[in-house]
Amino acid sequence: MMTTGGQIIDGKAHAATLRAGIAQQVIARMAAGARAPALAVVLVGDDPASQVYVRNKIGACEQAGITSIEHRHDTSLSQADLLALVARLNADPAVDGILVQLPLPAHIDTACVIAAIHPDKDVDGFHPVNAGRLATGLDGFVPCTPLGCLRLLESTLGDITGAEALVIGRSNIVGRPLASLLISASATVTVAHSRSRDLPDLTRRADIVIAAVGRAEMVRGHWLKPGATVIDVGINRVPRDSGVGTKLVGDVAFDEAAQVAAHITPVPGGVGPMTIACLLENTLKAASLAAAQDHSPQRPFPR
Ligand code: NAD
Repeated sequence: MMTTGGQIIDGKAHAATLRAGIAQQVIARMAAGARAPALAVVLVGDDPASQVYVRNKIGACEQAGITSIEHRHDTSLSQADLLALVARLNADPAVDGILVQLPLPAHIDTACVIAAIHPDKDVDGFHPVNAGRLATGLDGFVPCTPLGCLRLLESTLGDITGAEALVIGRSNIVGRPLASLLISASATVTVAHSRSRDLPDLTRRADIVIAAVGRAEMVRGHWLKPGATVIDVGINRVPRDSGVGTKLVGDVAFDEAAQVAAHITPVPGGVGPMTIACLLENTLKAASLAAAQDHSPQRPFPR
């Protein structure tokens, strides 16, 4: 990595602070007589990246004093059996949060499984009820990666009212919920996507650029407005310059962009650690919700 003109936003350090605060809150809850918050993690199949993500999430739970209950299944698990598992977890009062690791095998309808998770246990924030709550400015579960991006922006810039923000990508997991969060934070938001015209021009106008595309180093340094803040969500594995082995890079050409930007997240060590910290935060929130309310599966939702 070259020396930079801009300040690197240390996602690991921000995440460590957030995680330490969550661990303290878990201790306080238990001292007051509550059980540890509990997260059920469902992994279907043997996708190597998913295995790593699940391992990291479970390790982070342990460190924060959150109980994780792992449900690992072969790729051959039927959709009916997965839905039955989700129904059991919905009804289980010992489970506060449910995370079904994506992607699911091709024979399973992902939207159907997400919709089957009780919205009050939906710590990933992907359920249409939580997406609707976010879009309409109501409290609910916010997807962990966009929430982590907002936390990084607010701790770096403070108030972002009126800032021109460009979100590149419109997925349900990152781009769309992030746009809603930024609108609620009073930024002026543009969402670019695969059909947008003249992405460099859109980027040049933005005070804040968030790239969530999945294309290695697509956003170039000369596209950026000098002094912009850049949040790089992308995780792309590419061959090393030496030709031996691979490395992770983001959606932003880091070395170039860091010369122009005032603040920039690295990959790895930027958004990734915040995603996990926000998952813990959501699980703690789910536990507080469960403690405050009856989790009868008959209860109609949304409340
Ligand atoms: P996705 O494939 O669902 O969505 C990609 C989006 O990029 C689409 O909306 C598409 O319209 C847009 N896009 C594609 N080509 C484009 C182009 N040439 N110009 C402008 N927009 C274009 O991906 P996703 O799930 O949103 O993830 C995006 C990236 O973020 C991936 O690299 C993924 O691995 C990474 N990611 C990282 C974290 C994390 O914790 N750091 C979490 C989730 C996703």
